[in-house]
Amino acid sequence: MKVLACDKVDAAAIARIRSAGHEVVEGNALKGADLVAALAGVQGLLVRGATKVTADVFPGAPSLKVVVRAGTGLDNVDQVAATEHGVQVRNTPNANSVSVAELTFGMMLALERHLVPASNDLKRGVWEKSKYQGRELSGRTLGLLGFGRIGREVATRARAFNMQVIEHDPQHRAGGEGFDWVRYVEREELFRTADILSLHVPLVDSTRDSVGAREFAWMKPGALLINASRGGVVNEAALLEALKSGHLRGAAVDVFTQEPAPADHPLLALSNVLPLPHLGASTAEAQMRAGIEAAEILLECLAAEK
Ligand code: NAD
Repeated sequence: MKVLACDKVDAAAIARIRSAGHEVVEGNALKGADLVAALAGVQGLLVRGATKVTADVFPGAPSLKVVVRAGTGLDNVDQVAATEHGVQVRNTPNANSVSVAELTFGMMLALERHLVPASNDLKRGVWEKSKYQGRELSGRTLGLLGFGRIGREVATRARAFNMQVIEHDPQHRAGGEGFDWVRYVEREELFRTADILSLHVPLVDSTRDSVGAREFAWMKPGALLINASRGGVVNEAALLEALKSGHLRGAAVDVFTQEPAPADHPLLALSNVLPLPHLGASTAEAQMRAGIEAAEILLECLAAEK
C-alpha cells in the first residue's frame, strides 16, 4: 500500500513502514488542494501538527483509509468529516506527556527566576543581580485546567517541588484516582485560587476561546498563566490586556492561535511574556516515541484493510 508521511515525522517511523513492504512518500505542512494531490492512491496518512486534514480533503482522497497523528492534539484533523468518509483517525496520546510536563516546569521556573532576560542582560555585559530577584515555586498553589495525561505528569512533578496542586476537569476528580494530594475544585475556584494556572485541555468546541477576560479577572493579581495546550483555548486579546494592565504578572505561551505566530504578534512585544515556538513535544524522546507508535498503529490499520 502507499503511505504519505508528512511534517518530518521521525525517520525511524518511515523506515519501519517501508520495512513492512509499503511505499512511503513524504510531504510537509500540506493542506487543501496540495494535500489532495499528494493523497492520490494513498491509503495511509501520517501527520504531525503542520498538515491540515480539513473536511474538503476527504472527497478528493477516495483511497484514504486511515490518518495517524504522531502526537496528541487532533485539532488539525477533521474527525467528523473523516468518519463520514469511512476514514479512521488515530493519535499517539502517551508519547508526549512527559516532554510537555517538563517544558511546563521549564516555563514556570523561567518566569519566576527571570532566566531569559537575566541571561540576555549578562550576555550584553550587564550584571543585574538585584533587578532579577525571583520567587520560589515551593508552597505556591498550582492550578491545572485539565487533569488528563499531561496534567497528571505536571502534578507529579509539582509534588516534588512542594507545591499545592488543585485541578478542574469534568472527567477526572483527582482524589478518586490515586492523586489524593491533589484537590479537585470547581472551575471558577481554580482560577481564583491558583498562583500559577497551567492549561492542559484539548482544543475542542467547548474549550475554544474559553479562557478570556472573565477568567483573567477571576485570577489573583500577580498570578501567572502557563499555556502549553493549544493557542485557540485562550483569548489572546484578553490575555494581552491582562498582562498590559499588570493584573497578571506574567505568562509563558508555547502555543498560539495562529502558528507560526506572526513577528508583529502583540504578545511577543511584552517583557512579561515568555513566548516559545510550540516546543512542548519537541524532544528527541517524544518524537521517537510518537513516530514509532504512529507507525505501528498505521501498520495495524493497513493490515486490517487488506
Ligand atoms: P488528555 O486527553 O489526556 O487530557 C485532557 C483532559 O482535559 C481530559 O481529562 C479532559 O477531560 C479535560 N478537559 C476537556 N475539556 C475540559 C474543560 N472544558 N475543562 C477542564 N478539563 C477539560 O490530553 P493530554 O495528553 O493531557 O493533552 C492535553 C492537551 O495538551 C492536548 O489536547 C494538546 O492540545 C496539548 N498538547 C500540547 C503539546 C505542545 O507541544 N505544547 C504537546 C502535546 C499535547
